[in-house]
Amino acid sequence: MASSSEENYLKNIYLVLEKNGNVPVTTNELSDSMEIKAASVTDMLKRLSERRLLHYKKYQGVLLTQKGKARAVDIVRKHRLWEYFLVEKLKFQWDEVHDVAEELEHVSSDILVDKLDAFLGRPKFDPHGDPIPDQQGKISVNKFKNLSALRVNDKGKVAAVIEQQPNFLQHLDHLHIHMGTPIKVVERVEFDKSMGIVVNNSSTTHISYDIAKNILVAK
Ligand SMILES: [Zn+2]
Repeated sequence: MASSSEENYLKNIYLVLEKNGNVPVTTNELSDSMEIKAASVTDMLKRLSERRLLHYKKYQGVLLTQKGKARAVDIVRKHRLWEYFLVEKLKFQWDEVHDVAEELEHVSSDILVDKLDAFLGRPKFDPHGDPIPDQQGKISVNKFKNLSALRVNDKGKVAAVIEQQPNFLQHLDHLHIHMGTPIKVVERVEFDKSMGIVVNNSSTTHISYDIAKNILVAK
């Protein structure tokens, strides 16, 4: 069985690969994203490579093997199911669940996870709109659009957030923007790519490009 620390590496490699479109992940990228010294990262990558969980060549970065990817997807599945549980059943706020799920994702009982999944009604997306892999590791593909790419008069409902730092989520709370909130674009400022949006069919708010590019909407 893999240790929590090994699981965290596999998960982080998977998430970076997903974000970068499967470009091999470098030691420095991992060291930055996990806030761990590069030397320790290198040691762990060697160890995981010996166990055939990833392909590692010095200076070339890493890719996951099939076995490594399956492990990573399983951890991501647990993380997102626990987040869903915490928000839906225990009424946590969406900015409070990530750190708790970081611990719960390492629970190793498959039966517990499958029962949890069934209990929750086999949800497809977590409270931040990230897809929850199913028992076979299949992941639903979303057709969400980036809010920053919408034009004036385009409408949609908030379906996912890319940035998930608590202070960003709290700022969205402040703007009354949550999962499922209807949004309509009423202005686009080409100079700085900021936008005027109508939130919830009521108030108009001006948001920066940094905010818009971190929100995905479904039409
Ligand atoms: Zn999440």
